[in-house]
Amino acid sequence: MANRILIIEDEVKIARFIELELVHEGNTVDKAHDGREGLDKALSEDFDLILLDVMLPKLNGLEVLRRIRMEKETPVIMLTARDAVMDKVSGLDAGADDYITKPFAIEELLARIRVALKKRGNAVSTTHTMEIKGVVLDEDRHEVTVNGEIVELTNREFELLHMLMRNKNIVLDREKLMNEVCGYDYIGETNIIDVYVRYLRTKIDDKYGIKLITTVRGVGYVIKDN
Ligand code: CA
Repeated sequence: MANRILIIEDEVKIARFIELELVHEGNTVDKAHDGREGLDKALSEDFDLILLDVMLPKLNGLEVLRRIRMEKETPVIMLTARDAVMDKVSGLDAGADDYITKPFAIEELLARIRVALKKRGNAVSTTHTMEIKGVVLDEDRHEVTVNGEIVELTNREFELLHMLMRNKNIVLDREKLMNEVCGYDYIGETNIIDVYVRYLRTKIDDKYGIKLITTVRGVGYVIKDN
């Protein structure tokens, strides 16, 4: 990997354990043991990635994340307590790239770090295209193609697909999708999203025999890249 990583974690043993593994993988590691110190380091130095615990003394992890995001786009993976669903949701809303639940296997953490770094690398690439399961979305051309064939989409269908592809592997709820696709001032039923998903499935999934958009019962939708 060979990246510069900041660990903000007050549990010294956990921080030390992660540090050893990351250094072993060839990374350079810096640590902070409270939210205030972590924020200072995150803002004053440049890291490739930050591992951020939620429950921290002095300044909690979500607040640290919010303040980092006001100035920087450094990839952040949140470390959350088991079943702290709200922390996960708030973390992602506040701009976290991913989260991992404690206790975790170090292999899983390393895998998530790789994904977060890669995702960020792709985001700053100059092409502005993304591809999942043969479906290519070109942001600059505002165009979607499958096997080189242009798929005619309305603006809202395009925005919905864009949002799901941009957040691949993350389940998005209907409200969030609606805000993005229809705008925050839209007044209407969230099931409008179901309608657009149906249109997209007709135009892409059915036509090309792809299983692109997955329904997550009672929650929303996700596009998985595998
Ligand atoms: Ca903690």
